[in-house]
Amino acid sequence: MNARRAYDVAVIGAGVFGAWTAYLIRRTGASVILIDQYGAGNKRASSGGETRIIRTGYGPDEIYSRSAARSTELWSELGKQAEQALFHRTGVLWLAREQDNYSMNTVATFERMNVAFERLTPAELERRFPQIQLGPIAWAILEVNAGVLMARRSVRAVVEAATRAGVTYVEESVLPPTGNSRLESVATSGGGRITARTFVFACGPWLPKVFPEILGQLINVTRQEVFYFGVPAGDYRFAPSVMPVWIDFNDLVYAIPDVGGSGFKIAIDAHGPEFDPDKGDRGATGEGLIAVRKYLSMRVPALADAPLLGSEVCQYENTSNGDFLIDRHPTLENVWLVGGGSGHGFKHGPTVGEYVVRRIAGGNDVEPRFSLASKTTIQRRSVY
Ligand SMILES: Cc1cc2nc3c(=O)[nH]c(=O)nc-3n(C[C@H](O)[C@H](O)[C@H](O)COP(=O)(O)OP(=O)(O)OC[C@H]3O[C@@H](n4cnc5c(N)ncnc54)[C@H](O)[C@@H]3O)c2cc1C
Repeated sequence: MNARRAYDVAVIGAGVFGAWTAYLIRRTGASVILIDQYGAGNKRASSGGETRIIRTGYGPDEIYSRSAARSTELWSELGKQAEQALFHRTGVLWLAREQDNYSMNTVATFERMNVAFERLTPAELERRFPQIQLGPIAWAILEVNAGVLMARRSVRAVVEAATRAGVTYVEESVLPPTGNSRLESVATSGGGRITARTFVFACGPWLPKVFPEILGQLINVTRQEVFYFGVPAGDYRFAPSVMPVWIDFNDLVYAIPDVGGSGFKIAIDAHGPEFDPDKGDRGATGEGLIAVRKYLSMRVPALADAPLLGSEVCQYENTSNGDFLIDRHPTLENVWLVGGGSGHGFKHGPTVGEYVVRRIAGGNDVEPRFSLASKTTIQRRSVY
């Protein structure tokens, strides 16, 4: 690192938000340094998992549908540039109940936005996806162009693209900043100092540690368990070419076909207990395994006794309702806070980056839902 150099922008955190932000700022011609304490897409980061769903369906929250549609274009450009399969177009199946406002709103948004989808009856579901036992599921939406992003690999691909474009990337831990009105530089735990005109803190679940007074009560970090099960040899019912991603919104469960050879992935999306991203134990619990097996025996009986291949413990960094936090620091005028992915942020990395670029440039398309002022200490999740 050229410690004496002053950068236009320093981005702290090379998760999906920070990596895209650094890359897109660099493309405006600015000099950028990107810093991460454990490395881009590391195992502890929220972006460090194997796979993440990318879909446009967001119930009534069209703001995120539009963002996901735009992000899909940028992810696909990156995939071409990186010459890697970062995206798998498996489709995303929304399993809906009889009276299902969220799904009805999703359909209405798809129609307004011209998103390609099919509406499936129970008979069609039984014929096309006999692996899924319907139970109370009364209909479904298949978002045909949605699918799966290879998460860790994608973050690293963004960082590679960023460094090729001229971003300086370093692995260092940045100490919490101090000061009143303007930040001139930050110190690193290794004794270094990084000077920049603007600082973007995209520290994901670490934001409450970096800014305890401002964000300690506003970002709630929760422990989330993910399980991978092995399907029998020669059984292709759970392969990505046959089975889409599916979301059983009412039971807060999602499943991802075996895209990377790591197995059929399933997780319960309900918020878990509080979690420390540095020190928290990453072993899945027996209760978590029992809960997913119980669900499998009901919805996917063919996998009820499937062998567990592995598990991941990750964390959500939840804002009060699930809206992102992208705003200026309340007192340090050249510092930006970027995070609050709240369990659904990965797909939006590109548009989060674009939004930060516009805000730093002084643009006036300010989204009130991303503001610090809109965040409260009471968890009332409404964005999924
Ligand atoms: C189990 C699970 C499933 C999910 N599924 C989906 C999904 O299907 N679709 C979807 O769109 N989203 C999903 N999400 C949400 C999504 O993954 C997150 O919203 C997103 O990855 C957050 O990215 P981030 O860049 O804000 O944070 P992170 O990825 O955590 O990145 C923050 C980075 O900052 C670094 N850092 C922190 N503090 C410092 C410091 N002081 N100095 C230097 N570096 C620092 C960290 O090392 C880290 O690399 C899921 C999340 C989880 C946990």
